[in-house]
Amino acid sequence: MDPWIYLDHAATTPLAPEALEAMLPYCGEDYGNPSSSYGLSEAPKKALADARQTVAAAIHADSEEIYFTGGGTESDNWALTAVAEQYGQGGGHLITTAMEHHAVLHTCGYLEERGFEITYLPVNEQGFISLRELRDAIRPDTVLISVMTANNEIGTIQPIREIGQIAKERRILFHTDAVQAFCQIPIDVKEMGIDLLSASSHKCYGPKGVGFLYAAKQVNLKPFLHGGAQERGMRAGTENVAGIAGFGKAVELCQKTMAAREAHERSLRDYLIKRILAEVPYTRLNGSRKLRLPNNANFSFQFIEGENLRVLLDMDGICASGGSACTTGSTEPSHVLKAIGLPDALANGSLRLTLGAGTTKEEIEKTVEAVKKHVADLRSGSAVYEAFTTAGGQPA
Ligand SMILES: *Cc1c(COP(=O)(O)O)cnc(C)c1O
Repeated sequence: MDPWIYLDHAATTPLAPEALEAMLPYCGEDYGNPSSSYGLSEAPKKALADARQTVAAAIHADSEEIYFTGGGTESDNWALTAVAEQYGQGGGHLITTAMEHHAVLHTCGYLEERGFEITYLPVNEQGFISLRELRDAIRPDTVLISVMTANNEIGTIQPIREIGQIAKERRILFHTDAVQAFCQIPIDVKEMGIDLLSASSHKCYGPKGVGFLYAAKQVNLKPFLHGGAQERGMRAGTENVAGIAGFGKAVELCQKTMAAREAHERSLRDYLIKRILAEVPYTRLNGSRKLRLPNNANFSFQFIEGENLRVLLDMDGICASGGSACTTGSTEPSHVLKAIGLPDALANGSLRLTLGAGTTKEEIEKTVEAVKKHVADLRSGSAVYEAFTTAGGQPA
């Protein structure tokens, strides 16, 4: 039995046993290079083709529009730099949001250093961009709109179809980082007007270090890695056959189980939110109540450091994620929580719990009890909390 209560599925997911099984032949007897033309290479070649078809079908794309990559980060880097360089001709303008994953934000920073201009759309307190502000940000030299399908910290799902519509009307390419959304909510790139989409295997029960970029046929895509003719000359290098086979199997399973998994996660997640908000005073839920990923809960507890709470939960065997990135020893509040307008104290008091297919009611109950206990303990040792109660604040 898993000794951990794993509530950090937005960070990564456990590998599905069936996906592991699908990988094993390519770590062993089926070692042929898929680019070779003898019998030994038939099985790996077929594994790539099958996986390509499976992931293409999952987003209603064609196989020829799928390029396997080394993960979500690579797909984001590729989409942004390729479109900027191909369509921008030495300069140009891109539109994104203030709450993208760093794989997009830091790529935008790289492009800014190279003379591109970027508009970072603000988001409201629930994490939504404004379609009016998007329209207003469009310039004659805008080459790309990049807006994530769903946010990794607070789970907010953007109005992707409407964004796609605006992009089509203004003849601008639309990229979406769908790493969190892929296999969690239905995606139809044709119907949603998506030209480029990034996805990652390890966020949907596949192995780490593999992902794909979808680029619609009409996109004039630029190669990302230069070398051999793999991935139709766009992403050179001998393919990660085992990883891609595992990714394909994981996606096949995820598509079959999506509705049941969503119902399971949503009901446990709603129960978790209900209990935490009812039983832990001075707590808020970050993000949208309704338009959020079914497995995401993100709380801010007043008067405490989320990082301290996370460490105490870890000692109980509960894996959760804090709202601040401990980078250089100092804790920086999350850019996402800042973007939705949380003051630093509340951003630093945050905790993200993301559920998965294997999460049980018992695990959620244990987690609620642990959170209650640790938040109370941390508050009783907090000077800010003491000042609050001495000043007449209602004790928790
Ligand atoms: C995890 C994640 C990424 C990065 O994907 P990797 O495969 O880990 O490189 C990018 N964007 C979002 C929204 C993510 O959650």
